[in-house]
Amino acid sequence: MIAILKHGASDKQIENLCTWFGNRGLSVHLSKGESHTILGLIGDTTRIDTDLLMGLDIIESVKRVSEPYKSANRKFHPEDTIVDVGGVKIGGGNFQFIAGPCSVETHEQICEVAGRVKTAGAGMLRGGAFKPRTSPYSFQGLQGEGIRLLEEAKAKTGLPIVTEVMDIHQLEYFDNVDVIQVGARNMQNFELLKELGKMSKPILLKRGMASTLQELLMSAEYIMAGGNEQVILCERGIRTFETATRNTLDLSCVPLLHEMTHLPVVVDPSHATGIAKLVKPMALAAAACGADGIMIEVHNDPKNALCDGAQSLTPDEFDDVVSCVNAIREVITK
Ligand code: PEP
Ligand code: MN
Repeated sequence: MIAILKHGASDKQIENLCTWFGNRGLSVHLSKGESHTILGLIGDTTRIDTDLLMGLDIIESVKRVSEPYKSANRKFHPEDTIVDVGGVKIGGGNFQFIAGPCSVETHEQICEVAGRVKTAGAGMLRGGAFKPRTSPYSFQGLQGEGIRLLEEAKAKTGLPIVTEVMDIHQLEYFDNVDVIQVGARNMQNFELLKELGKMSKPILLKRGMASTLQELLMSAEYIMAGGNEQVILCERGIRTFETATRNTLDLSCVPLLHEMTHLPVVVDPSHATGIAKLVKPMALAAAACGADGIMIEVHNDPKNALCDGAQSLTPDEFDDVVSCVNAIREVITK
């Protein structure tokens, strides 16, 4: 971190500031120029509040030269992280399809979809039990009962299950859940992230709809700072001025995140587009730009789905996406 001091900062003020940094474990490299004094701060500056520094009388500007995320940072962990979900690996060259309905509805529905997506090649089953809905009058999910039905589908197919938690109090239902999803709306629910950091289960962290990549990585950092390093990032589209799609799929984040972090990155083309016919082309594009996995909503009867039917694929359509994505992956991994 570099701090540029205002013209006219007195020696006493500079000395006090250097002592302040020293007390925070930083060493200071001081360089006095004709008009400005520059302080180069060496050490762990992640705990330094740049806004607080900017508020001091003698500081003109502050610039971070290293990122505020440490555990998620590729610089300090050059190897790809491979998240192992009971033998199903994702990251570091391991690619997975995560598929299933937006919401778990009935035993028949979840078991039929689970069987079909498994046969097609999915490595994990997704299904919402606690649903974050925009309207309080919309179906809110089967909650604890939904997780019980997911467990039945897991027992039948052997597929690990991925489902969303919205609140710390719901975690009592998650003992047999393999991957806990944090939805876009909760990406910055820091108390929830801290709680998940104490757990030893993989976390699928979705990007907030108005969040930068740095904010996404800072949220991953909350989980990792607590000791849980098993984090999978998920791009699910961001909010822009465009209304033709539900969100705007930011695929450039995939190669960028791979530079910034060692964590696996999956893409969710279902929530990114909101339109079933766009899911396949976006899934292919996601695979082509290096995603470590794709999460797709699949329903046995999309027209009658209780949630997100317009963006859900039928099992047959999912079959087709899997074979085309696999063909793309063969080309790009050559
Ligand atoms: C979901 O995956 O069902 C979901 C609600 O997604 P998001 O948090 O990305 O909106
Ligand atoms: Mn959905």
